[in-house]
Amino acid sequence: MSQQVQPPQIITILKCLKCNYSTERQFREGDFVTKVEGACPTDGAPLYIWGIYAKNVEQKNTNQKY
Ligand SMILES: [Zn+2]
Repeated sequence: MSQQVQPPQIITILKCLKCNYSTERQFREGDFVTKVEGACPTDGAPLYIWGIYAKNVEQKNTNQKY
């Protein structure tokens, strides 16, 4: 009996203060909305955390054999 509980993946969305650039990455401890982190790759303006959400991982990753 192997029961693995998979926590949902937490995604952090980062947006540029200047342009419409946005990116997302895995949530890290200490992340919060409006936190400034990193720089925009296109214009060098600061990126801020725009949102944090949980992604459902109910796809491929469950290769269970009975
Ligand atoms: Zn930008």
